Amino acid sequence: MTIKYFQKGFNYSQDGPGNRLVYHLHGCNMKCPWCSNPEGMKADAAYPAFPITQVTVEDMLSEIISCKPMFFDGGGVTLTGGEVTLQADAVRELLKRLKDEGINTAIETNAMSPALPTLFPFLDHLIMDVKSADEDKLLSVAGGVLYPILKNLKAAVDAKLDILVHVPLINGFNADEDATDKLLQALLPFKDDIRIEFLAYHEYGKDKWKQCGLVYAMENANISTECYKKTVSKFKAAGFTAVRT
Ligand code: SF4
Repeated sequence: MTIKYFQKGFNYSQDGPGNRLVYHLHGCNMKCPWCSNPEGMKADAAYPAFPITQVTVEDMLSEIISCKPMFFDGGGVTLTGGEVTLQADAVRELLKRLKDEGINTAIETNAMSPALPTLFPFLDHLIMDVKSADEDKLLSVAGGVLYPILKNLKAAVDAKLDILVHVPLINGFNADEDATDKLLQALLPFKDDIRIEFLAYHEYGKDKWKQCGLVYAMENANISTECYKKTVSKFKAAGFTAVRT
């Protein structure tokens, strides 16, 4: 079994606790126009500027084990993307072997795949996006479907995982009062079981879209500091634990 990834490196605290070796796996089942890793979106596409690495689970495991001394402050390995569940069989095998080695594991996912719960037994931390609770907008703008995302969230709660929900806040998509109210209602049943982190829109991936020959179509998507604070306050007032990693 092999895994394809387009980027790897160490990161401290933002992709799970401590110092973590983070792999960005290739391919995604959504099409967010703000994606900061456009080179990893299409599973069948490879761009000259962004080579893809394909390795066996065995070789990836050996590399990770050799990095063990670097996993300080509760660190370990995080698999992100792209979307990790597109390579669920190999990812499950890798996570299982990592747990056998006593290595802390996390994944970051858009949470839309029915394969996601099959990874739960081998996870210490689940970071999952809930980008919007507006079904039409989620589908038309990002290619996402809300029902399986909420179903997977419920399954993760039932599995008693450590869950951090990421919400990108994007003007014109999900940052207005109605949209954040709708999201709050959708997540309310889980408020005691999750932490939530709002991520203000940024343009970090813009240049990479150009390098891939793709059109970056986002305009006027920045949110104000006031909007960010207001949204966080609204969720805190409703009993959510809002964090900033
Ligand atoms: S789900 Fe994540 S990786 Fe996939 S397109 Fe959206 S932002 Fe990019």
